[in-house]
Amino acid sequence: MKFVIVVLAVVLLAWLLFGRNRRGDSPAPPRRGKRKPTAVEGMVRCAHCGVHLPASEARATGALHYCSDAHQERGPQAPRP
Ligand SMILES: [Zn+2]
Repeated sequence: MKFVIVVLAVVLLAWLLFGRNRRGDSPAPPRRGKRKPTAVEGMVRCAHCGVHLPASEARATGALHYCSDAHQERGPQAPRP
C-alpha cells in the first residue's frame, strides 16, 4: 500500500512540475489550417439543356441563364423528362 502512495505522489509531483506549467500546450490546438467559409455562390440552370452551373460561369440573357455560348444562341428549350 505504501508503494502505491509513493507512486501516486511521484506522479502528482511530476504532473505539478511538468503538466501545469505548459499552459500553451493545450490538448486541442487552435485550428489554424481551417479556411473561412466563402460566400456560397448561387447555382443557375441552363435554359437550354437544364444543367446546373455556378452563376459566375453562366451566360445570362435577361432572367435566363445558359451553360455555353452555343446554348445561348439556340435559346430556351423545354428540359427532357
Ligand atoms: Zn446548356
